[in-house]
Amino acid sequence: MKDIAKLTVIEIINLLKSGETSSESLVNGYKKIYEEKNTDINAYLEFFTDAIESAKLADKKRAELLTSGKSANEIYVEFPLLGVPIAIKDNIVVEGKVASASSKILENYKAPYNATVVEKLLNAGALFLGRLNMDEFAMGGSTENSAYGVTKNPHDLERVSGGSSGGSAAVVSMGGAPVSLGSDTGGSIRQPAAYCGVVGLKPTYGSVSRHGLMAMGSSLDVIGPLAHTVEDVEYIFNIIKNQDGDRYDSTSLKHEDEVKNISRHTFNPEKIRIGIVPELMNQGGIDKSVIETLNKTIELLRTAGCEVKEISLPHVKYSLAVYYILMPAEVSSNMARFDGVKFGSKVEGDDLLGDYLNTRGELLGKEVRRRIMLGTYVLSSGYHDAYYNKANITKDLISSDFEKAFENVDVVLTPTTPTPSFKIGSHSDDPVQMYLEDIFTVTANLTGSPAISIPAGSTKSDTGTDLSIGLQFTAPHSREDILFAVGKKVQQLRAL
Ligand code: GLN
Repeated sequence: MKDIAKLTVIEIINLLKSGETSSESLVNGYKKIYEEKNTDINAYLEFFTDAIESAKLADKKRAELLTSGKSANEIYVEFPLLGVPIAIKDNIVVEGKVASASSKILENYKAPYNATVVEKLLNAGALFLGRLNMDEFAMGGSTENSAYGVTKNPHDLERVSGGSSGGSAAVVSMGGAPVSLGSDTGGSIRQPAAYCGVVGLKPTYGSVSRHGLMAMGSSLDVIGPLAHTVEDVEYIFNIIKNQDGDRYDSTSLKHEDEVKNISRHTFNPEKIRIGIVPELMNQGGIDKSVIETLNKTIELLRTAGCEVKEISLPHVKYSLAVYYILMPAEVSSNMARFDGVKFGSKVEGDDLLGDYLNTRGELLGKEVRRRIMLGTYVLSSGYHDAYYNKANITKDLISSDFEKAFENVDVVLTPTTPTPSFKIGSHSDDPVQMYLEDIFTVTANLTGSPAISIPAGSTKSDTGTDLSIGLQFTAPHSREDILFAVGKKVQQLRAL
């Protein structure tokens, strides 16, 4: 059998179907990798002690279904993830487990219910290996904002894994789980996926229920998978997406209807049209290795028969500014519930105000407090019109840029990040430099479009390690199918 650290979800399913491995032996394998590597990398906050028990139950269920006369194929049609291990970001709730969002304030918070995605995965037969490190409440791009220590990049332990879903990317990259879930508000699935050399999908806003995901920016947040291959993220997306909507999340789409009714985009997989954006590439600050990777991939795609054309997205240069107004505004309102009364731990003060000040002052990290203040500021009277409303208007202009572009192209291609992973500590005192890493990713959250980061190359660091470089494809609303087709094409071309 292939090295467990590199097994894909699809391979695991085939091995389980043929009886060549069991869920129990897989979980034991991942536990061993966890024991060997997690002290250094810190991807897992907790490896669940009951994971082995769940694996045994899955093996038992498979055996029973087989004796009842069902074929292995029939079993996996009914339970497409039976006995498949998966790890999840610590801001997605699993009943009875701690969900800390990597914050001190929720250190002892046990979730009383399952997130919709968790429910869907359990119904498909999946089992959970553990919960993964992240930037506190998903605010950050390096996991340095975790209250439980940074998640290091498995390719280079001096560098960050990215964030906020750093644990979710690092766990796949180090081989500690075949697939994970992350959340993406401004790039938190795609950016760490790019830094760690794995595939990360940010689905269309509303295509995956947010019920049970701790809210950061409610109009931007979406849950998505990270894995070794495009085929794997596609497989998991098809299980977690909400074909039937979700009564707990009023923004969740009835996915199939969306594809039929909203997106009339016609796509010919034989003649893929790819848009590139010179004005984005010429803005400076983009690492040479990233530009080279992009150009090389464009050449590969061209020789494979894709049409690559230059397009203009005139308002996209405002994306980062718009994001860093709208997101904190939503953060400041969503974080109000963490006051030491409704949720989480409390630090007593002399009176009610003292309780609030002590609790939020001591148990929330610096970046979270910074965003609450920024958000409160942009929403305050007098500034609301100047900042928040203006940002909303600009957001609509950015969306119409994309709508126009998609009349002529099927996907927009950009780097996922302007640089490969950076050294731990190198950006921590400069929030603006950290925010600049989000320059390519925030746009898809503002427009709601689906976007995927695909490993596309690497470059040598000063110490000789290989730093991964990811490229991002963005498609029209609800057209994840286009991302999967293009993503598989890039994978094939790179393997040649
Ligand atoms: N790095 C971005 C931020 O700090 C994205 C975060 C996210 O997507 N959760 O806001």
